[in-house]
Amino acid sequence: MTTSPTPPAFGPCPTVTLIEGDGIGPEIAAATVRVIAAAGGQLTWDRQLAGMTAAAEAGDPLPAATVASIKANQVALKGPLGTPIGAGFRSVNVALRQQFDLYANVRPAVTIPGVPSRYTGVDIVMVRENTEDLYAGVEHYIDARRSAAESIAIITRLGSERVIVYAFEYARRHGRKRVTLVHKANILKLSNGLFLDVGKEVAQRYPEIAFDDMIVDATALKLVVAPERFDVIVTMNLFGDILSDLTAGLVGGLGVAPAANIGDGGCAIFEAVHGTAPDIVGHGIANPTGLMLSAVMLLEHVGQAPAAARMRAAILAALADATSRTRDLGGQADTRGFTDAGVRALEA
Ligand code: ATP
Repeated sequence: MTTSPTPPAFGPCPTVTLIEGDGIGPEIAAATVRVIAAAGGQLTWDRQLAGMTAAAEAGDPLPAATVASIKANQVALKGPLGTPIGAGFRSVNVALRQQFDLYANVRPAVTIPGVPSRYTGVDIVMVRENTEDLYAGVEHYIDARRSAAESIAIITRLGSERVIVYAFEYARRHGRKRVTLVHKANILKLSNGLFLDVGKEVAQRYPEIAFDDMIVDATALKLVVAPERFDVIVTMNLFGDILSDLTAGLVGGLGVAPAANIGDGGCAIFEAVHGTAPDIVGHGIANPTGLMLSAVMLLEHVGQAPAAARMRAAILAALADATSRTRDLGGQADTRGFTDAGVRALEA
């Protein structure tokens, strides 16, 4: 049986690996570091390289020093990364998740006043299994002529149980009322059936949290018709990948979406989910909200809830006003203007 994941104990000023990343990464990382400090977050930064920048400067998109730093610190904040062709793996982000067995991808989607969106009252946390399913990398052509290819979805009891336990523990810690398990067990009776069976078993250990399950296609419909019906969702890798972008779309898009990747013993990498935005690099107009809200999750993770709450309130204050919102959200500010507004809110 999987035990409850206990986050590691962090000291009063933990060292955090900071990977600024590629494209707009350094711009949004600088803004984020500034607001963390203004909010009273006590962190020591250990700056490391990854992605295209690391390939250019260190000859390796995932240098050993970066891996060693995350291993030692057990917590990282990461901007978007590009993966050079011929890196030896498909994606640096995926390589990091595999290296540290970061099995739970956590993506909150919460309505933010002032951020343009079709919905109000959305407050969903998507917990996605991050290591198995069709993304386990078991793929091949069935013959030399490449007349057909197959990708195999791997679902294990251990992999299912640990992420479902994580979802329930998250629900318990955050006072959440319901966990909905999303699957396609009516068709994929063995693999998805196993995930569902494990979910039903785990749910019995959390009698205070309501549990239900929903077929993925019905979930997609329900999410756009009545998103307020959902609380915590736990699902497998492929469905989670798709549905977490959908839930981000319910609250204003990828630019405002935070994420955490959590592993055993609480090792965690917090990241913005948008890409490197090469079209706006160097213009000073990138929206740092996604990385900033990821940093709020990081502060909570390392036991600095008051600083996290201050930082979240400051970001929300800056987003509430069109003059301090960035242009991608219909505002008039650049990265600096938005960041200044956040810092002002903290100093008020
Ligand atoms: P990548 O190749 O790294 O995935 P991309 O440009 O294909 O990069 P995104 O980086 O997600 O994908 O960008 C999609 C669009 O959204 C781009 O026009 C980009 O400028 C914009 N965008 C993404 N992130 C931000 C942000 N934080 N602030 C402002 N605009 C953004």
